[in-house]
Amino acid sequence: RIDAVDGSAEAGVHAFLHVAADEALAVARSVDEARAAGEPLPALAGVPVAVKDVVATRGMPTTVGSRILEGWVPPYDATLVERLRAARTPLLGKTNMDEFAMGSSTEHSAYGPTRNPWDLERIPGGSGGGSAAAVAAYEAPLAVGTDTGGSIRQPAAVTGTVGVKPTYGGVSRYGLVALASSLDQAGPCARSVLDAALLHAAMGGHDPRDSTSLAGRAPDVVAAARDGATGDLAGVRVGLVRELGGEGYQAGVQARFAEAVDVLREAGAEVVEVSAPHFRYALAAYYLILPSEASSNLAKFDAMRYGLRVGDGDPQATAEAVMSATREAGFGDEVKRRIVLGTYALSAGYYDAYYGSAQKVRTLVQRDFAAAFERADVLVSPTAPTTAFRFGDKLDDPMAMYLNDVATIPANLAGVPGMSLPSGLADEDGLPAGIQLLAPAQADDRLYRVGAALE
Ligand code: GLN
Repeated sequence: RIDAVDGSAEAGVHAFLHVAADEALAVARSVDEARAAGEPLPALAGVPVAVKDVVATRGMPTTVGSRILEGWVPPYDATLVERLRAARTPLLGKTNMDEFAMGSSTEHSAYGPTRNPWDLERIPGGSGGGSAAAVAAYEAPLAVGTDTGGSIRQPAAVTGTVGVKPTYGGVSRYGLVALASSLDQAGPCARSVLDAALLHAAMGGHDPRDSTSLAGRAPDVVAAARDGATGDLAGVRVGLVRELGGEGYQAGVQARFAEAVDVLREAGAEVVEVSAPHFRYALAAYYLILPSEASSNLAKFDAMRYGLRVGDGDPQATAEAVMSATREAGFGDEVKRRIVLGTYALSAGYYDAYYGSAQKVRTLVQRDFAAAFERADVLVSPTAPTTAFRFGDKLDDPMAMYLNDVATIPANLAGVPGMSLPSGLADEDGLPAGIQLLAPAQADDRLYRVGAALE
């Protein structure tokens, strides 16, 4: 299937940056043999998984969609990859993404964009457009994504797939190339809620190598997905977030969302309206916190430790000159823009005004969630304001690009889990729209229960 549809940067879906066909087939064969021998096998044994290229994979290149890591092969596996190997899932390869996971369209990948399988002239969302497109195009039944501000959920919405950002700390970040450490979270991309739950369970759980990993037992998301499939939501309180919808949201996206809410009502859920007055500041706060953390995290790409090195042929070249030439050549425009923004926001004279204020907004967003979850068990909204847009439409307007995540960012600021699942096709363009479910921290199981009932 990958051979048939993936093509290249010039044509085709281009979901993959690296295909590990031989390794994947070897794992699949070993599972076949084990099954024939009657050995007990984990739930996902033999089910192929594609992995976003921000996740370190031993023996497979890991570029983060950037020239600066072109050709870098990590000497170790991320914890989630280690767990997938132990679960005997064949790893199909690495999926395309916006450079360093900065973007909402994959147009910022240094290796050319991924195309939306629904319409190859349109974006598959981002930053994890490769993982979502691979699933939507039937190139992989399951894929791993990461979500810092919406990069699992928004691609799921615009490709008609299911994507979940677990509670912060629910899936280990060990071995992920960090974008913004306080926001990053890995999670599943799939074609059904139960599939997503199986991948979530296989990757998640406590990891002593990640200091922010949650201790204790993880919620049983697989049981919740099975439970929800009965379609009974009696006693579940669903909160409509007043601030996430209305102006700026495409009519067809809102229509499908309203119908999905009707389905929840018919399943027995009680639907109430809730208000989150500080969500309107969430995007602005995110674009101070994220660049600040990113500017610090990306300082390690200094031409000495990993990947690309430019300008060291001259024996007189100083380390600083090599570092500067390497970063100039290796980072794309969006990455440079955010490093500059973040460095500025963290600089001595501005720290309180920018980073400090943004952290205060973050607390207010967390309080809005706490208040809303007193009145509702899950919150719902459209996942993204529009369906997939055309290549180039927002590339020269960073603000327009940033607005794609207006509904997904609050969850990252608060660390709460979120799911996007298909709500149907918008009338204007016949393209998929998504509904987002949000739950309190460590109540990921609620997303799976309600999501499976809605499916
Ligand atoms: N689109 C958002 C951004 O550009 C989200 C990215 C992400 O979740 N990795 O920052």
